[in-house]
Parts: sequence; C-alpha cells; structure tokens
Amino acid sequence: MVSTESLFSSDRAKEIIRKKKVILFDCDGVLWRSGVGLPSAAEFVNSLSPTKKVFFVTNNSGGTPAHLTSKLARIGITATEDQVISAPLVTAKVLSARGVKKVFLLANTNMVSYLKSSGIEAIEADFSMNPNDIDGDSFTDPAVQAVVAGATQDLNYSSLAQALQYLLKPEVAFIATNRDPTFPGAHSMLPGANTVVSALIGCSGRQPEVMGKPEPFVYEALEEMYGIDRKDCVIVGDRLSTDIELAVRGGSTSILVLTGVTPAESWHEMAESMGVIPDAVVGGVADIVGWDVVE
Ligand SMILES: [Mg+2]
Repeated sequence: MVSTESLFSSDRAKEIIRKKKVILFDCDGVLWRSGVGLPSAAEFVNSLSPTKKVFFVTNNSGGTPAHLTSKLARIGITATEDQVISAPLVTAKVLSARGVKKVFLLANTNMVSYLKSSGIEAIEADFSMNPNDIDGDSFTDPAVQAVVAGATQDLNYSSLAQALQYLLKPEVAFIATNRDPTFPGAHSMLPGANTVVSALIGCSGRQPEVMGKPEPFVYEALEEMYGIDRKDCVIVGDRLSTDIELAVRGGSTSILVLTGVTPAESWHEMAESMGVIPDAVVGGVADIVGWDVVE
C-alpha cells in the first residue's frame, strides 16, 4: 500500500493531469488567496486549455459567474461564464431534474435567475411582514415543493418564520446550496450559507439535503450539461473536507494543494484521521506547471 506521505509528489500530480480530460478547480486557496493570484496559477490553468476541459467549481452563492470570471481575468486566467459551476447552478439543475417547479428561496437573490433558467419559479420572503401576521394555514403556497436555503445578506426573523411555515410541511423538501460556515469577503471573513441553514435546522428540527461540495451533485450537473463522466475528472483543491471529499465520494480523482487552508506540516495526519485521502499532494499549482512534458 502506498503510504500517505508518499502522495506528496509533483510527478504523481503531473501524471494525473496528463491522463484526465476534465480539470475542476476550487479557486480560493488554489488559484488565489485574498484576491491575489498564487504563483504560476495563470500559467498552469492557461496551459490546460488547448487539450483539457476546465471548470471552476465553487460553493460561493453570492458572486455571479461574471463576477468570478472577472476575478479570474484579474489574475490572468481567461475563462467564460459557462466554465463556472457554482452551488446555486448545481442546485437549480438537480431540482429541475427532479421535476421541481416552485420553491421558497431564502438565499442570495441572484439564485432567482439560476432557478428560472432551469424552469423553476422562486418565491422570496417578504421582509416587511410582521411574523405575528403569518397565518400558518393560509400563508403557504401549496405549489411550493422545496425550501432552498443558502448564503444571503438579507435575513431577518420574519423571513425565517416564513421559511419555517414551509418546513413544517413534511412534503416540502429542505435543500441547502452548501454548508460553508464562512466565505472570504473583501476585507474579512463573513457568515456563509450555513448561518442561514443552521437557523432553519434550529427551528424546524429538520436536516437539509446539501447540493454543493462535498456532496457529489456537481457531477450530475456536469453530466447533464456537458455529458462529462466523473471518472474523467480531477479536482484540484485546498480543503480536505470539501474539495477532496467531493472527489472521494463522487468517484473522481483529486490533487490537494497546500497553498490554502490545509497545513503543509500536518496534511497527511489530517487526511488519515478524516479518511479523506487525495490521489496526489503538491505544495501548490506552481509545482504542476510543465505537466505536459513527458520525461
Ligand atoms: Mg478553497
């Protein structure tokens, strides 16, 4: 058996990149950190485009694909919006495939357009409604099939009370775009989707079905949209509990980079204790530049 520490090998990572047709990138901690491009990130990603399919897989539900592609452009990476596979997009695709037509949305309002383009109507909370005026029997729309919760800066007691009315109905599904506790804001870490999701768990006593990383629904979306087989994919990420676990659970391959949240000195102990073992580990994407050179 290969020891975990021996997975730290740029040759091993380069071999994976050579073999796989589809490269899925986590962005923060892989391509940039605090908005600053990491060494060789642009050179590496741009070297893939002639022969590989490249996607950027993010749980961020606040930023639009246009926002992400402009951020990529600022560090020298040319990408189109259809290369961005976000948790909101995956949520819309999966719900649509299940025949969902109408949802109650407690997430960033830009999700309305994602859902709409998948044929799903979204009702949003009325933030001015007095919670004591909510009539449990008449408030809910019987056509609503799911509550979709995710990161949003618009949240108040009334909006939670309105979502709760739906969650009290067992036939209404409880869907979370992701459960990231925080996300990097412009100048500080900010409360993420799990803030909203946990508030709803707290009052409803229900557990959501999660769509974003590490749940493997992203592969369903890639297959539906582009006919991509998960076995052809490698995910390059910095977090064991999301990026690498996504690959492990989804049946694809993974490369862990140590430029983000996973400490270089203890990654192997963390991976072993979590039971989430990447296929290769490198210091950063700078170590995989030159992947196409066959020695
Ligand atoms: Mg990351």
